[in-house]
Amino acid sequence: MLFKDIKIGEHDKVIHTISQDEIAGDGRPCYLVDSDEIGGLCEHASAELETVKMGTDLTAVTAAVKPVREGRVHVGKEFSVAAIARHAPTDYGAKPVLVMPTVAFCMTET
Ligand SMILES: [Zn+2]
Repeated sequence: MLFKDIKIGEHDKVIHTISQDEIAGDGRPCYLVDSDEIGGLCEHASAELETVKMGTDLTAVTAAVKPVREGRVHVGKEFSVAAIARHAPTDYGAKPVLVMPTVAFCMTET
């Protein structure tokens, strides 16, 4: 949960701000420790790959190589990011709620 450390009734109501921007990536997949997933792939990964969960071996990575090389799954190099921030004395840092590749490159392009 996004603000799980905040106790109900502990604070007065506060204003929240949602921010959105584009960020540049380095154009390669990454490992998402918190969710144990392959990150940085485009939305086609959900249709083309059985899973992006890593598990205990490299089966998911091996299965992702062919669709990426064939251009059916792309690797993000720019991302749309949205975050919510509380206007409060504590726990006010922006918390990302969306990270989505918006510009991706295809391995078949030269
Ligand atoms: Zn794609």
